[in-house]
Amino acid sequence: MTQTLTFLGAARTVTGSKYLVESGTDRVLVDCGMFQGLKELRERNWQALPVDPKTINAVVLTHAHIDHTGYLPRLVKQGFRGRVFCTPGTADLCRIMLPDAGRLAEEDAREANRGGYTKHAPALPLFTEEDAMHALTLLQPVGYDRPVPASGDIGITFTDAGHLLGSSFVHMTVGGDSGRQILFSGDLGRYDRPVLPDPSRVETTDVLLIETTYGDRLHEQDDAGERLAEIITATIAGGGKVIIPAFAVGRVEEVIYWLKKLEAARRIPIVPVYLDSPMAVEALRHYANHSRDLDPDMQTGRGQMSAFTTQRFTAVSSVVQSRQIQASPAPCIVISASGMATGGRVLHYLSAALPNPRHTVLFVGYQAAGTRGRQLLEGAKTVKIHGDLVPVGARIERIDSMSAHADQNEIMRWLGGFTRPPTITYLVHGEPAAQEALGARIQKELGWTTDVPEYGEQVTL
Ligand SMILES: [Zn+2]
Repeated sequence: MTQTLTFLGAARTVTGSKYLVESGTDRVLVDCGMFQGLKELRERNWQALPVDPKTINAVVLTHAHIDHTGYLPRLVKQGFRGRVFCTPGTADLCRIMLPDAGRLAEEDAREANRGGYTKHAPALPLFTEEDAMHALTLLQPVGYDRPVPASGDIGITFTDAGHLLGSSFVHMTVGGDSGRQILFSGDLGRYDRPVLPDPSRVETTDVLLIETTYGDRLHEQDDAGERLAEIITATIAGGGKVIIPAFAVGRVEEVIYWLKKLEAARRIPIVPVYLDSPMAVEALRHYANHSRDLDPDMQTGRGQMSAFTTQRFTAVSSVVQSRQIQASPAPCIVISASGMATGGRVLHYLSAALPNPRHTVLFVGYQAAGTRGRQLLEGAKTVKIHGDLVPVGARIERIDSMSAHADQNEIMRWLGGFTRPPTITYLVHGEPAAQEALGARIQKELGWTTDVPEYGEQVTL
């Protein structure tokens, strides 16, 4: 029986994760991510898949981030009717993230049509909130460490990846218990970080897919919040605001954890902290509910929710309140999505704050090529927001230590847990420079065979 693996996304780029495994007539898609960033990539979201979605038997999600799940509503719209396996934490987060992404896509399309700054007439959303709700009905939550059949002779087991609530490695067997083993790393978390546990150790697999987002980088040493404290203190002292674009699910929890910690140690002034993202507020609730899946440190305190709030904390609940904060001259800290400033409410804060040198925009996550976040970090003098050119006068900062992705050393540490080398290691979910650097290090230090697959490439298992 022919067994193949096809790379339908996150090949030489960091978004659009989709890997199709076929064994005879069984077809399982691991991750169902949306392409983001460069226009050339985003256009792939509109192109037909090489297989008819109706013929895919099951989808397996490593975690809830949109670059791993955001294509699911479209897949369902095109006729996919199988089950979508994921952990309970991932299911909970998908239930808030996918409808939100649909709503956002509808809003963006509406705004583009109103502002007349679309090349497509009319602009259409990739999927709607309703499409997302429909997709959610197919979710099939499965706990960690429980083997389940996905389709025919393809079985899966999730183990904790330490990257996000519910995040997992997918251990797949193709061709029954004695068949080929494939391990999908999804996104690899980090060691010794607050909020989430360390990535679990994996000892063997035949075929490994490893993410390489930070394959050529080392995160700055954890400085116990030193730079965060410095940036906040200086900006507030100068009468400015600190705007933190953050992935609503994943980064927000760690940002708030640090703000609380720095406030308690009197290392930053106590100012209003606004969380302007209904989705992030919902996600915090899920983190509190799944505290058993969090870092052991987070499980001991009483009232888990208290770990995720500061002294003058406000969850912004209305657009009117958003506008008041944007217009107010009072120093404050604002956390809002999206994390790469590609959409969402943070754009309104950026429009208002970017021209003024008093304010600071602080990025705490990866900024993909082609995003406004990347442009700002690369020193853009102006950025286009909602069709307007906005001059950049504000201080632009980045803190990498809060990243949810393992850096090169952490990837090597995790690979060091293997007791025998995989037959082949595919480097995925990274830009080419990162993959080249990591591949060279893996070959040199471990002597493993690595490969960097291309978009659309199919290999025999
Ligand atoms: Zn992720």
